[in-house]
Amino acid sequence: MDFMQRIRAFFAKLTYGAYGSDQLGKVTLYGSLILLFLSFALGSTICWYLSIAGYVWTIFRMFSRNREKRAAENALYLQKTEKLRTEIRQARVRFRNRKQYKYFKCPQCGTRMRLTRGCGEKNVCCPKCKNTFKMKA
Ligand SMILES: [Zn+2]
Repeated sequence: MDFMQRIRAFFAKLTYGAYGSDQLGKVTLYGSLILLFLSFALGSTICWYLSIAGYVWTIFRMFSRNREKRAAENALYLQKTEKLRTEIRQARVRFRNRKQYKYFKCPQCGTRMRLTRGCGEKNVCCPKCKNTFKMKA
């Protein structure tokens, strides 16, 4: 076995059965990166230690062979952040379509609605609370 074959065999053995990357892993990786930048920007040693701890945890999870436990951690993360992730995803869609639609909230219940831009003043009826009001787009 030559040197390159040994290296390949070493990595194949290292990653065999490894859990790999998931959504929680990406968040901890990017979070650690942000903490690393903050530690340099603010000269904070606490941020540096938290960043290193984040990297260690990310690498531990990626190479872990306890797939059920890692998947359960990821599922818990996804469940706890679902509302926030939905809010961010919808905000991105609203930003992308901002030239096509005017977005607004119902003044009574806060339900988000949209009108096609250029449609003029319309009577809008909220689908949730049936409040009717005028909106110009
Ligand atoms: Zn409403």
